[in-house]
Amino acid sequence: MRTDLHTHSTVSDGTQSPAQVVAAAHEAGLDVVALTDHDSTAGWAQAADAARRLGVRFVPGMEISCGSDGVSVHLLSYLHDPSDDGLAVEVDAARDSRHHRAERIVELLARDVEVSWADVEEQVAEGATIGRPHIADALVARGVVRDREEAFAGLLSSRGPYYVRHYAPDPVHAVQLVVAAGGVPVMAHPMARRRGRVVADEVIEEMADAGLAGLEVYHRDHDRDEREHLLALARRLDLLVTGSSDYHGAGKPNRLGENTTDDDVLAEIERRATGTAVVG
Ligand code: AMP
Ligand code: FE
Ligand code: FE
Ligand code: ZN
Repeated sequence: MRTDLHTHSTVSDGTQSPAQVVAAAHEAGLDVVALTDHDSTAGWAQAADAARRLGVRFVPGMEISCGSDGVSVHLLSYLHDPSDDGLAVEVDAARDSRHHRAERIVELLARDVEVSWADVEEQVAEGATIGRPHIADALVARGVVRDREEAFAGLLSSRGPYYVRHYAPDPVHAVQLVVAAGGVPVMAHPMARRRGRVVADEVIEEMADAGLAGLEVYHRDHDRDEREHLLALARRLDLLVTGSSDYHGAGKPNRLGENTTDDDVLAEIERRATGTAVVG
């Protein structure tokens, strides 16, 4: 089976609707696809419908924004109960904070370039989790930059003068919340240095002690050395190893199925989850 466990839709910073993401997965020859929008499960129902219609297996997921001493960490959660309050409270707080933070970034940008909050709002679907990619899209629409890549390399860089942080739970706490919600937590792109600072192995060890189930080793933002390092870490900490595309539609070059997860790993994720079931 071909399984891709990390994708985004217009519910966060992808460019296709949840149904379109599932259809694109079907066209790409995938058998199993997860939808893992940032801090939201709002796309699950639509993705599940499309999956049933097309005969694709659908894994409900989410990518939780976390922060560890100012370092951004992304935690994938699979098959948790979306109505679990403990997890929902933290995720909602992060989403709210993202909104205020995006307004603040635009305020700072507007001093130097042609962009307004209204420009950004045009790029965000109703109720979506807002992120820098939407600000990038507004800058593209204004002709300030060519694409999201150029925006992130300059104006939106986390190392630049317009960067503003947002509230995000500590990853160790988030791991505990996912487990309590019946979900299976997997750390997303643990060593993706290009996007900013990454946490030390000690933080990953603490997450493992708290119940982390796996590491997303096979991801385009990891080079060969990083993959080898993470494989050794996964072996030492007895963690599952996943691979995924981190598809964002037209928002990134990542293609569906460019990295995949083994059948036995998916089976283990399914076996451990108690929050909700795989569809199909
Ligand atoms: P934020 O969550 O608002 O801090 O923005 C980070 C998000 O932007 C991540 O989820 C990535 O998907 C996306 N991103 C980061 N770097 C790039 C890039 N170079 N091109 C397109 N999207 C990016
Ligand atoms: Fe994203
Ligand atoms: Fe991520
Ligand atoms: Zn992602």
